[in-house]
Amino acid sequence: MGGTNLRAAVVDAAGRIVDSAAMASSGTASGLEDGIVRLVDELSARNRIEAVGVAIAGFLDAECETVRFAPHLPWRDAPVRRTLADRLGLPVRLEHDANSAAWGEYRFGAAKGVRDWVLFAVGTGIGTAQMHDGEIFRGAYGTAPELGHLTVVPGGRRCPCGKLGCLERYCSGTALVVSAVEIVHSHRFHGSELAEHVRRDPAAVTGEQVMAAARAGDPAGKAVVDDFSDWLGQGLSVIGDLFDPELILLGGGVSRDADLYLPESIESFESGVVGTGYRPTARVAVAELGADAGMIGVSDLARRAARP
Ligand SMILES: [Zn+2]
Repeated sequence: MGGTNLRAAVVDAAGRIVDSAAMASSGTASGLEDGIVRLVDELSARNRIEAVGVAIAGFLDAECETVRFAPHLPWRDAPVRRTLADRLGLPVRLEHDANSAAWGEYRFGAAKGVRDWVLFAVGTGIGTAQMHDGEIFRGAYGTAPELGHLTVVPGGRRCPCGKLGCLERYCSGTALVVSAVEIVHSHRFHGSELAEHVRRDPAAVTGEQVMAAARAGDPAGKAVVDDFSDWLGQGLSVIGDLFDPELILLGGGVSRDADLYLPESIESFESGVVGTGYRPTARVAVAELGADAGMIGVSDLARRAARP
């Protein structure tokens, strides 16, 4: 489920996508539910569907029955799982989107067989999930872990979540643009196309352009990506100190350019954890299932819920 599009897929027991459908999202709760029913109907006409999993970017209760709040979706304290199960006549499993993606990577992707690990997905914001002893960890009330909203700069950049100085304001696709504007205003960067672009029309700059400039050797692009890399290293160190995981997987759209910054982030991660040099640290790798990880993961969870 996204604020812009609903994407659906039929996923087999081996985690392979065998069919798919999509439609525009809706701004109302009933419109969203209608859309899900229509997509399932469309796919049911061509496939035998056993259960439905729905991955949601929002806060669920610990039982995954109710969507408490989702910033880009209209549900508020809505008993979505039961509503959909009644309308579809099929078992339905709701899950947070980062947890869904983590489950997909655990079952079929880069975290296969790893029982203690963390997914750190960097896109527009940061989505995180933690698996402990082969289970999704969600805390007492269902919201853990929100690592993207750790305060890293007291009184810092304003976050859409309402807090100031959250990690995702310094380490995300949107942060690349904000950092580009800040860095370009405090340095000259002679001969930098990106710096010229930022000065001319800052609102038109995208995170992809910053990454592309860094890849092309543009000095402003490289400075912005170095800054991003430092923040990512600090984020990884926090994860290492909090959870001491075996693996940290970097996912999300920004992970496509990991070759540009991840080696430096790993160096600062390894030297930034407490007791550095005297403890093993997590392996850091890039997730494998890309934008399909959530669909693949939540469909596997739905299959398990239907056939416990
Ligand atoms: Zn925040």
